[in-house]
Amino acid sequence: MSPIVELKDVRKSFGNLEILKGVSFEVNRGEVAAIIGQSGSGKSTALRCMDRLETIQGGSMMICGHRLEDEKIDLKALRRDVGIVFQSYNLFPHLTVAENVMLAPRLVKAVSRAEARTVAEAVIAKVGLHEKLEAYPEQLSGGQQQRVAIARSLAMEPKLMLFDEVTSALDPQLTGEVLKVMEQLATEGMTMILVTHEMGFARKVADRVIYMRDGKVHEVGSSDILRTPSTPELAAFISEAA
Ligand code: ADP
Ligand code: MG
Repeated sequence: MSPIVELKDVRKSFGNLEILKGVSFEVNRGEVAAIIGQSGSGKSTALRCMDRLETIQGGSMMICGHRLEDEKIDLKALRRDVGIVFQSYNLFPHLTVAENVMLAPRLVKAVSRAEARTVAEAVIAKVGLHEKLEAYPEQLSGGQQQRVAIARSLAMEPKLMLFDEVTSALDPQLTGEVLKVMEQLATEGMTMILVTHEMGFARKVADRVIYMRDGKVHEVGSSDILRTPSTPELAAFISEAA
């Protein structure tokens, strides 16, 4: 099986501060990879590089067949293939749930209104919000807004979904409903990379766990490494997170 995501010795600096110091890992189609690690270890930067929201200074990255260090990369094609969801939902307040979800397919894929509506209804149902199609974001809880943000990404029919601490702003109950949606996606075979502090979720859902420390992959393996870490640093991180 050839990997859908392949990072080789990726280096990224802001000014003369090196943030990613040679990051390498692979993710295969249909896998769920969880990136864990202390705040400031470069997790978000790595994820942002994968959608080319940041450019890299060294190494190579192949994402869904797109070579990210290629200066002539087709960013529109990359972003059709890769969905990214952040901690903040950034829904348009003046648009309904359905309209928020229809926007990108209409603009980027230039599909008809009717077709966009059909897709929107399907993905909004998938995140369990069918009864909220005509609601406005302010009428929804944080967890519901985050599920709309996930639906908005799914409407583009991505090959890969990236999630950056999507539940960090939510209280435990709302976190649970968002994690449930992500678990469902994983079950359906979506390839996902998630930065998360939810160790229980990583243990349960992740096929691959990537522990980042100081801009490098310090330990990588199946979710077994959360039970039996081989480095003292990961062991300490897990006991702090528990
Ligand atoms: P994490 O997501 O693991 O908490 P980040 O990738 O957000 O870590 O950040 C890693 C380091 O890079 C931090 O020291 C942060 O301050 C720095 N950093 C992130 N983005 C920028 C930026 N746009 N400009 C300068 N420094 C940044
Ligand atoms: Mg981060």
